[in-house]
Amino acid sequence: MLKIDGLTKKYGNKVAVDNISLEVKAGQITAFIGHNGAGKTTTLKAIAGIIDFDSGEIFIDGKSVKENSYKTKFDIGYLPDNPDIYENLKGIDYLNFIADVFYVDEATRKERIENYGRRLHIFSDLGALISTYSHGMKQKLAILSMLIHKPKLYLFDEPFVGLDPVASHEFKEIMKELCKEGSAIFYSTHVLEVAEKLCSHVVIIKNGKIMGQGEMKKIKGDKSLESLFLELEQEQ
Ligand code: ATP
Repeated sequence: MLKIDGLTKKYGNKVAVDNISLEVKAGQITAFIGHNGAGKTTTLKAIAGIIDFDSGEIFIDGKSVKENSYKTKFDIGYLPDNPDIYENLKGIDYLNFIADVFYVDEATRKERIENYGRRLHIFSDLGALISTYSHGMKQKLAILSMLIHKPKLYLFDEPFVGLDPVASHEFKEIMKELCKEGSAIFYSTHVLEVAEKLCSHVVIIKNGKIMGQGEMKKIKGDKSLESLFLELEQEQ
């Protein structure tokens, strides 16, 4: 579903992402872990087509994001680390705007907004202005907005930040369901305990380079993901 071949992104002289290659297949939940400034957000933004990159190729469901930047946007849902949502709209108006952008019909959007909205405990607040929402409520709305067009590939940047324990639990269940339905999830996180339990696969990045990737069980062996991560961080 996602294939990255030799991706490099520089900001001036700073190499933020250094010749990385990875693959995420349909049905997989892959955690993307690394220290602050390792290159996770930069990679996610490049996949989402928000920033350009210096070299390499990114394919989503076989289509190059460089050559098909408009079309590939319909195949992805991207949750930024700090979603900027239009504060002067009501929650429901924002969701309808997103549904219009992705040409989602009335019946389908209604069903998805109600189903996922109730599960994430935001449905009863959708009539209120977004400016009145708490941080966690905005995060729930941003997540809900990605579930309306049901993309093939979900990209989440630190999705659990701000979610209460109930919403966090429900969102993990939703993530598992999406993968069972044939989507793929690639998400960045610092919460290694959750990643270890939830994810089938993991990619570890350090200073823009990939230090390890593959099946979660194989990569960590008998260790916890945290121990493995700390060991890799100590290596020069
Ligand atoms: P965090 O866990 O803190 O969110 P990250 O792994 O997502 O970190 P990135 O945001 O991708 O890291 O940053 C990678 C590197 O690129 C860092 O050294 C950062 O300072 C640099 N960087 C990111 N965005 C820019 C920018 N717009 N201009 C210049 N440098 C940038």
